Amino acid sequence: MIDPREKGHSKRDTRKGTLNQKEQRYARKKLKELVINRDWCKGCGICVKFCPTKVLELDSKDKSTAVRPEDCICCGMCELRCPDLAIEVLIEEGGENE
Ligand code: SF4
Ligand code: SF4
Repeated sequence: MIDPREKGHSKRDTRKGTLNQKEQRYARKKLKELVINRDWCKGCGICVKFCPTKVLELDSKDKSTAVRPEDCICCGMCELRCPDLAIEVLIEEGGENE
């Protein structure tokens, strides 16, 4: 009988440190540009908090800005989480998907 506490059998740990399918789709791509619509950005900071590589910061006018675009891994979290649809992650053509 399999001990559910053994490594690989714990339901609680299976998602830890992993990306879901949607995140993986973005993660294989190369960034072309992070388009931030400053008129739509309300400065909530959600994208800043969710970005795993600290690419984004709020500027002096409380608008999201890409301060370290070279660190972007194209996970798409900022675009997916922005409640105001103010960020678009543009991927280099020739990426693996879509
Ligand atoms: S999540 Fe959207 S609205 Fe909020 S700071 Fe980021 S870009 Fe602006
Ligand atoms: S796509 Fe991911 S890594 Fe790139 S800025 Fe958005 S949240 Fe950060």
